[in-house]
Amino acid sequence: MVNTQKKMTRREPRFDLLGGPVCLDFINTLDDRFKPKPKELLASYVDLARFAEDTQILSDLQVDRLFALSQQAPREATRALEAGIQLREAMYAVIGAVMMKKSVPQAALYTVNQYVQVAARHASLVETKGKFGWHFDDVPLDLEAPLWPIARSAAELLASSDLRLVRACAARNCQWLFLDASKNHRRRWCDMKRCGNRAKARAFYERSKKEE
Ligand SMILES: [Zn+2]
Repeated sequence: MVNTQKKMTRREPRFDLLGGPVCLDFINTLDDRFKPKPKELLASYVDLARFAEDTQILSDLQVDRLFALSQQAPREATRALEAGIQLREAMYAVIGAVMMKKSVPQAALYTVNQYVQVAARHASLVETKGKFGWHFDDVPLDLEAPLWPIARSAAELLASSDLRLVRACAARNCQWLFLDASKNHRRRWCDMKRCGNRAKARAFYERSKKEE
């Protein structure tokens, strides 16, 4: 009962989480990144905390405390947001280069590694019912705490055989990254409803135009 009530008081999700691993969802927070004017979805520290809330990479309690802390220390919060964006763009540079079969920019890999190392210093393994997961320090609370699970997620993806399954959505006006975990590995869209149906409708329209 307590849990249900608590859930109801939480905010509506703000981010579309379609990427799979949280590092890909994080990369997608720069929307339309292929356009001359991409759309920044992390406009303030609050957005970064909301991302952590939507993805549940931190607990609700941690997120609430980050909101409060960011109001007490706005300058530090802005710095933490800038760090997040630096990590995001470095992750994209590395993962994007792999996807495009280009050589990996070493400066970007160096940046990712710096965040991976910081994340490792704050991570410990916890066991729940025989399963292990990462727990990230919450005492003392750090405004960069949302970046630790994101950096860890990038490290795990980059070091895994799943890396070859990272795709960009086939919709030209989307191109969001996702992990193709489908059985035959032929997923083309970040989301069927968001992009797939629209593209199919357009293809149908173009076909029927030709037949006229
Ligand atoms: Zn898409």
